Amino acid sequence: MNVDLHSHSIASDGLLTSEEVAARAHAGGVDAWALTDHDEVKGLADARVAAEALGMRFIDGVEISVTWRPDGDTDKRHKSTTIHVVGLRIDPANPTLLAGLKKIRAGRDERAERMARDLEIAGIPGALEGAKKFAVNPELLSRSHFARFLVEAGKARNTHHAFQHFLTEGKPGYVVHQWATLPEALEWIGAAGGVPVVAHPGRYKLSAPQLAQFFDEFKALGGGAIEVMTGSHTLEQYNHFAEVARCYGFMASRGSDYHGPGESRVDPGQLPPLPADLKPVWHDWF
Ligand code: AMP
Ligand code: MN
Ligand code: MN
Ligand code: MN
Repeated sequence: MNVDLHSHSIASDGLLTSEEVAARAHAGGVDAWALTDHDEVKGLADARVAAEALGMRFIDGVEISVTWRPDGDTDKRHKSTTIHVVGLRIDPANPTLLAGLKKIRAGRDERAERMARDLEIAGIPGALEGAKKFAVNPELLSRSHFARFLVEAGKARNTHHAFQHFLTEGKPGYVVHQWATLPEALEWIGAAGGVPVVAHPGRYKLSAPQLAQFFDEFKALGGGAIEVMTGSHTLEQYNHFAEVARCYGFMASRGSDYHGPGESRVDPGQLPPLPADLKPVWHDWF
């Protein structure tokens, strides 16, 4: 069974509509597909209709932005890391989840204003209006939309370069931001009956002991799965996080993290299968 449990639509920072992503997943041979927009569930209803019309199983998902600090450090001036937690098989109408997502979406506007101010100081005016033109969902202004603006404005060759030179830590358009806490994200996903999954664990700039501390906390809060096969991982990371899943007893997930043509390394359904000895997060779903 070809299962792909991580993708984005125009409801967050993807380039395609729910229906178009469904068609891409189907074309990629996907049998069971999840849409997992950042901090938003409004693309799910259309996605389900489109998926089922194409004969695919559909899993309601979301990717929640979390701010996490090692060592239980709560001092906001200290270094924090943004971590993404995917919630799968959520009830998209759950009031606790909806209120939580709405709260973190609300912080995006103010963050975008600070980003635009920093870019203006760095000699790039008009970034807020420019980014907004790319954001189909006005509640979900993302760094990806700023990246597309920077490419359009001729400041970067492609969106990857825009991130590298402007939108990542230490660069002029990057600002620190507080998302949900890890306990909040797991509480919201749990309230909605979903399964929390650590997204692309290989992408975080954490030391090995810090990442181990994160996994311990995630597990202690009831988290039970991590992405092993993701479009963000290298071959070595597939093996490494398969081993992490074994060590912690985590179930494993597989998801391309597809954002649209030209912006994703892997198309839906194209990742290698999970190692046979791992327990797939979907083991009792179908
Ligand atoms: P935001 O939630 O607004 O901070 O945006 C995060 C999104 O930016 C991620 O989900 C990716 O889609 C995208 N992103 C982050 N880092 C990079 C990168 N280095 N290259 C391309 N896209 C990136
Ligand atoms: Mn994204
Ligand atoms: Mn992510
Ligand atoms: Mn994603």
